[in-house]
Order: sequence, then structure tokens, then C-alpha cells
Amino acid sequence: MEERWVFMDGEYVKKEEATVSVFDHGFLYGDGIFEGIRVYEGNVFRLREHLVRLYESAHSILLGIPYTLEEMEKAVLEAVRKNSLKNAYIRLVVSRGTGDLGLDPAKCSHPRVIIIVDQVVMFPQRMYDEGLAIVTVPTRRNVPDALNPKIKSLNYLNNVLVKIEANQAGVGEALMLNHEGYVAEGSGDNIFIVKKGVLYTPPCYVGALDGITRQAIMDLCGRLGYTVKEEPFTRHDVYVADEVFLTGTAAEVISVVSVDGRTIADGKPGSITNHLLNEFRKLVRVDGSHAYPEEARESEL
Ligand code: PMP
Repeated sequence: MEERWVFMDGEYVKKEEATVSVFDHGFLYGDGIFEGIRVYEGNVFRLREHLVRLYESAHSILLGIPYTLEEMEKAVLEAVRKNSLKNAYIRLVVSRGTGDLGLDPAKCSHPRVIIIVDQVVMFPQRMYDEGLAIVTVPTRRNVPDALNPKIKSLNYLNNVLVKIEANQAGVGEALMLNHEGYVAEGSGDNIFIVKKGVLYTPPCYVGALDGITRQAIMDLCGRLGYTVKEEPFTRHDVYVADEVFLTGTAAEVISVVSVDGRTIADGKPGSITNHLLNEFRKLVRVDGSHAYPEEARESEL
């Protein structure tokens, strides 16, 4: 078993010793932000975009990250290198830091920055070949004027509740609606539907994270000549879609073949979904200004 090193406030600590205080407000209150990022063959996929989202989340919750974006970029790349993984999952966490038991973030001494690099847990290929059956859960998406889903905060209870409801229903992912009944997203994925050759995904104001994979798919659609529209839609639109798929850093692009017991089209992953998955899998290996130079990749990773 290879040793894993966790970046904690500028120092590397062994995985087994990487712990935070019980007075950390990330732990006590979910007061902080995070990113989940993939490394493909030594290429950190869209690192800059993930960091922009992280810094925007921080700005929104008045959390001052003690590094510039460029410094953070270097730290992430260094953490990947240090862990000698060619394919990896990066979890970047910034919490408000250690305070007292009170809610007041002003009592927290300094924000805590943690970078974990670990093995990727891949979904079995069978799930991509067959597609997922999902259900709509009773829990609604947080309303944007309470806790905006565009902020990737450590407060993921909304999503955890959805995951529990998905587990109870015996499915791997679930659909969340917003407070008005429009389709928002999954517990940890964005959603797209295809109707008559046109792709639709909910605009973020409906209650969705501005997913990096979502954006990559929209970019790919532009390049491949597919029309994609950001428009609100309902469960009915999902039921009668020609294709449905989810996108996310972990899942990449995964087909949905049944929703609430309604079979989607012929119940098999659709051709546009498969096309986008194949193109996405090509893209992740080449797209990124953060690929290591070939020689470094060979020797260092
Ligand atoms: N929505 C939610 C709620 C998520 O947690 C995630 C995973 N980060 C996504 C969508 C997909 O976003 P991304 O493509 O950036 O991983």
C-alpha cells in the first residue's frame, strides 16, 4: 500500500495522521467549501475551472482563502505529484477553521486548506452499458436565496438526505426538484435530457451546481454540432425525453434509462449520450493546461 500524503495548511501529513480539530467550523457547522477534481493519466481535468468555482464560493461566503489562485494551483499539482498517482481523485477543502462552539465565524483563527489525493472509485462499466434507473425524491433542492446551490459548500445535508432517500428506494442516484417543482439536479450530478435531437439542462438558477462536467458537455455539444439549451423543465419532460443522462466529476456521463418507473424511450442508453460519453473520455485525457510534460509524467507519476 502506497503512502498517501495530505496537504494541510502548507504542510504534508501522512493520511493516517491528517486530522482536524473538533472545534473546526467545517466540522461543527459545515462552514466551508470544497471541490472534487479528477486526474486522468497525470492530467488534472479543468483545474483552473474548479479553482475559479472554489474562489467564487469562498467570495460568496466571505471566506478568505490564504493563497492566491495561482498558489493553490501549484499546491494541487504538487500534492498530486507527491502522491504518485496517474489517475486520482482530488478533494480540496477550505473550512472556516478552528473557532469556539459558537456560530460566529469571526472567532475562527484562520481558514484551513486541505488537499487530499486518493484513488478514484470508478463506477462499473456495466452501469454505463445498461444505464441507471432513478427516482424523484421528496426532498427539494435548497432554495437559492437561502443556500445557493451554486456555492459548493461543506453543507451537503440537502444532498445527503437525497442520497438516503435514493438508498431507501434501492437506486444509485435520484432526481431532486426545486421548490417550484422544476427539475434541479441529482444528489451529486447535473442532468441533461435530449428531445428531438436538442439537449436541455436546467439553468443554475433553478437550483443546480454549475458543474464542470456540465460545462464540458456543453462545450463538446458546440464542437460536435449539437444544440444545447439551458431551460427549466419538469418531470414530465424527463419521462417523455428521448434520452436522459447525468454528468459529474465522479460519474462522468452516465445514461438514465428509467425515471420513477417510466422507461425512457427504448430503455437503452441513447446514441447522443454514448457519443458524448466517448468524446468526454477522449477530452479528459487531452484537455487541460495542467497536463504534466511527457517526460515528467513518465518519471514522476
Ligand atoms: N451537482 C452537485 C450537487 C454535485 O455535488 C456535483 C459534483 N461536484 C455536480 C452537480 C457535478 O459537478 P461537477 O461536474 O463539477 O463534478
